[in-house]
Amino acid sequence: MSTPDPKPPIDFIRAIIEQDRETGKHGGRIQTRFPPEPNGHLHIGHAKAICLNFGVAAEYGGLCNLRFDDTNPVKEEAEHAEAIMRDIRWLGFDWEDRLHYASDYFEQLYEWAVKLIRDGKAYVDDLSAEEIREYRGTLTEPGRESPFRDRPVEENLDLFERMRAGEFADGEKVLRAKIDMASPNLNLRDPVMYRILHTAHHRTGDKWCIYPTYDWTHGQSDSIERITHSLCSLEFENHRPLYDWYLDQLGIFHPRQIEFARLHLSYMVLSKRKHIRLIESGAVSGWDDPRMPTLAGLRRRGYTPGAIRTFCDRIGLAKRESVVDIALLEHCLREELNRTSPRVMAVLRPLRVVIENYPDGKSEPLDCVNNPEDPSAGTRKVPFSKVLYIERGDFMEDPPKKFFRLAPGREVRLRYAYFLTCREAVRDENGEIVELRCTYDPETRGGDAPDGRKVKATLHWVSADHAVDAEVRLYNHLFVREDPDDVAEGGDFLDNVNPDSLEVLTGCKVEPGLASAKGSDRFQFERLGYFCVDPVDSRPGALVFNRTVTLRDTWARIQKASGGGTKTRGR
Ligand code: ATP
Ligand code: MG
Repeated sequence: MSTPDPKPPIDFIRAIIEQDRETGKHGGRIQTRFPPEPNGHLHIGHAKAICLNFGVAAEYGGLCNLRFDDTNPVKEEAEHAEAIMRDIRWLGFDWEDRLHYASDYFEQLYEWAVKLIRDGKAYVDDLSAEEIREYRGTLTEPGRESPFRDRPVEENLDLFERMRAGEFADGEKVLRAKIDMASPNLNLRDPVMYRILHTAHHRTGDKWCIYPTYDWTHGQSDSIERITHSLCSLEFENHRPLYDWYLDQLGIFHPRQIEFARLHLSYMVLSKRKHIRLIESGAVSGWDDPRMPTLAGLRRRGYTPGAIRTFCDRIGLAKRESVVDIALLEHCLREELNRTSPRVMAVLRPLRVVIENYPDGKSEPLDCVNNPEDPSAGTRKVPFSKVLYIERGDFMEDPPKKFFRLAPGREVRLRYAYFLTCREAVRDENGEIVELRCTYDPETRGGDAPDGRKVKATLHWVSADHAVDAEVRLYNHLFVREDPDDVAEGGDFLDNVNPDSLEVLTGCKVEPGLASAKGSDRFQFERLGYFCVDPVDSRPGALVFNRTVTLRDTWARIQKASGGGTKTRGR
């Protein structure tokens, strides 16, 4: 008898949280947040952060806030914020009444900035953005102090107030923290706290013409919300000393920031900036293009929230960046769709079959199993008749050795129906095969021969008179390279866009029960893959299906070959 698996080891973030609970830090309270910048739509990388923040809170009886880090008035749009909320809900998480905006803290942040000025910890600088960059030094050279660094407090207070009042033009002055121009951490070399931007903000309107930087806002926003564990990606590791410095100077509630590695996926780019370029270049049709790794794109493609959550669970958390094989994401999806998708028959590239010995005008309803993985899904009737469609690729006139499907003189099984033998291929005037003349064996109804004779292939089919027309969109990787950023000198990731990432098939034939399919209904087309109704373009009478994923599970194969374990590649 085998012993049950031990409890899986917890990740380093959960280990810290469990320890904090044991020592009674914050009275055992756990509060996290997901802090998107509303400058684009969420992608699967964000899903990792969402599952972590909301997941940890739920597991330890804590709460998770949604906070829009909307400090940048130029980029933010209300439309993105709406889409972000819809996507988080779709993933299955709920912030309840804990919706916050960094812009709601602008007044408080201003007051705190004034406090730092009073304490001699911040100053107004007249250097231009370019000069500031120049004075900042490099990783190997210390920075130089601005000539305005030692302005008296009163002058700083006056100038900062006038910055707010709109007396200066964009870029004329900034407010900087007075920390250390020789610090080995560049983020501590007197970072900018406020810049002048005479631009309306989508939530605060024209109230402000100075805006706090992300770095001056983020840590204090966490503090205001009394976040206990501020979980963020590794690129903020270098910013943590600065966030700590601000919180310590202000003497306010101090969250603990913990960094984890971002998700990278093979054949995908996970950056809003790159997504915008994909859209603007016309490589994809929009944020919800089914080839996009955005949650909107994955949803339209037919991904389920459950499969994405399972994926985020399986990839785990690490301190080191790595690339996850997209085959793992597809594997998680297949696992769920295999359990839940009704099976149907659809022919994507139809070839007409006439059964010569089947009675004219007759049609019989045959029992088909809805889901062999789920007996409770029951059966359905699918009409069979004299003229059918089968897949063009299931017939070869002159088959090679390993081809076991239909060929002249060969017998195969039609799924849930009869044995069928091909007698002849009919050609049109151009020599193209347009029809197969066949016969069937009436004794084999249901798919087995009473005399025990075997066939080597089972084909799917639809009845020509009953079939419904559909358009089917097949998707391949959006990029031709595993790492889309792997480009020639002077090249660009757009050079790696796969010209064959979308194939549109029209005149496909699907079984009649699909006529009423709608929304994002999901199916397994037998032998072909998992498909869903396109929620945007499909109409009754003009059905459009997206191929969500093929049936071939490359991940399962990789696992078998490597003996298990989550395989990732270092970056
Ligand atoms: P992008 O590079 O796509 O613009 P971002 O980090 O600027 O992403 P934000 O809106 O700031 O996007 O992200 C919100 C949260 O999501 C941040 O806490 C960030 O750490 C996290 N996040 C973003 N991308 C990933 C990723 N690929 N893997 C894990 N977490 C991510
Ligand atoms: Mg960001």
